[in-house]
Amino acid sequence: MAQRTDLPSFLHQEDLGAWGIYLEQIDRVAPYLGDLSRWIETLKHPRKIMIVDIPVELDNGVIEHFEGYRVQHNTSRGPAKGGIRYHQDVCLSEVMALSAWMSVKNAAVNVPYGGGKGGIRIDPRNYSQGELERVTRRFAAEISDIIGPNRDIPAPDVNTGPQTMAWIVDTISAMKNEPVTGVVTGKPVQFGGSLGRVEATGRGVYIAAREAAKDLNVPLKGARVAVQGFGNVGSIAARLLVEEEGSKVVAVQDHTGTIYNEAGIDVHALIKHVEAKGALPDFPGVEVIDNEKFWDVETEVLIPAALENQINADRANRIKTRIISEGANGPTRPEADDILADKGIILVPDVLANAGGVTVSYFEWVQNFTSFFWTEKEVNERLEQMIVSAYRAISETAKEHKVTLRTATFITSCRRILEARKLRGIYPR
Ligand code: NAD
Repeated sequence: MAQRTDLPSFLHQEDLGAWGIYLEQIDRVAPYLGDLSRWIETLKHPRKIMIVDIPVELDNGVIEHFEGYRVQHNTSRGPAKGGIRYHQDVCLSEVMALSAWMSVKNAAVNVPYGGGKGGIRIDPRNYSQGELERVTRRFAAEISDIIGPNRDIPAPDVNTGPQTMAWIVDTISAMKNEPVTGVVTGKPVQFGGSLGRVEATGRGVYIAAREAAKDLNVPLKGARVAVQGFGNVGSIAARLLVEEEGSKVVAVQDHTGTIYNEAGIDVHALIKHVEAKGALPDFPGVEVIDNEKFWDVETEVLIPAALENQINADRANRIKTRIISEGANGPTRPEADDILADKGIILVPDVLANAGGVTVSYFEWVQNFTSFFWTEKEVNERLEQMIVSAYRAISETAKEHKVTLRTATFITSCRRILEARKLRGIYPR
């Protein structure tokens, strides 16, 4: 990557990681911003960064210190919003990039939020539930000054979930001496969570794939689907493609291996099997294939729903599909994007395809303010309407400028963010 001159002093060129990819994406959008490009630096400078020390007494009496981050990338369109990740590789440049992608995602589906993200550098597999609770509560206390229903609203991300959110609500409520249910989303439905939240991301990935299929005139009945990652997002997107469209899932890969059946894999049975056994390869009636072969399987729909950086140039050259709907965050490298576009494959980018989760998080936040809860049917209907209208607007922008859906999403979102920024102006002057 060329030497950049637009980095904050605390980030070195060699440590750029995901932030470097994000900056490249912003560079691609700059020519489409017109007068708004005067404000483009806004997108390259997170508004607020908090790094906290988290001291915790472990079960064996040792005191261990963890590093925690909360980054508010942009708040021009509303409070910051984005998840909290627990992973041993979490670092500031990664959290900065993830927070910026949340600004883009939230603007893409037009929910009234800016972008934020948080993380703790910890491998949660090495700690007990009690230790994780103490880590979470201390982290919540440390960032309590900058989070809140009108300031910054965290949610679950990798290795965090409804239980983590419950601890955060409880800690903040105890500190403020009042219930602060709306401080996070992704809560348990037993208190303040929304129906439909668990399924929301996978449902959005399915809706995005379906809309792309309409654009390409690809019939989904009988269409072959391959899914990488059969967790929350991948399994639900695959199940909905089968149930709603009559597609057939021919290949599934997770961290335990890759299975293949040309005639179609029974997704419902596979979901039960993974819940019970945890591993794919001993599922009956399928062929176990080499992991790398997954990328050679011919399909109409491919859903990467596991990890970042999965589709590189080599795999992009081998992939034979019509539609990619990105469930995971950042599964495709920028050089692979160009190869896939040249091959005529429609790729619905993460910042649009997996926005179903944050959309229903928005519904949860609204329900918390009104204390009036919706049925699952209402949640799903509103989600459907928001993802379809976002997809349609972005697809029009892509046609107008003859760009990929990823660039079109960035054009749409960056314009929305910078228009708000421009209208608000700078205070104090
Ligand atoms: P999950 O933990 O439920 O499932 C992850 C899946 O990925 C599992 O099937 C796991 O076996 C598989 N996997 C892990 N390592 C792998 C490897 N090396 N090769 C192949 N498969 C591997 O997680 P999830 O909630 O489904 O999230 C998946 C992705 O979607 C992540 O990138 C996450 O950031 C993104 N995402 C999730 C949500 C959400 O609401 N859950 C929202 C937006 C984005």
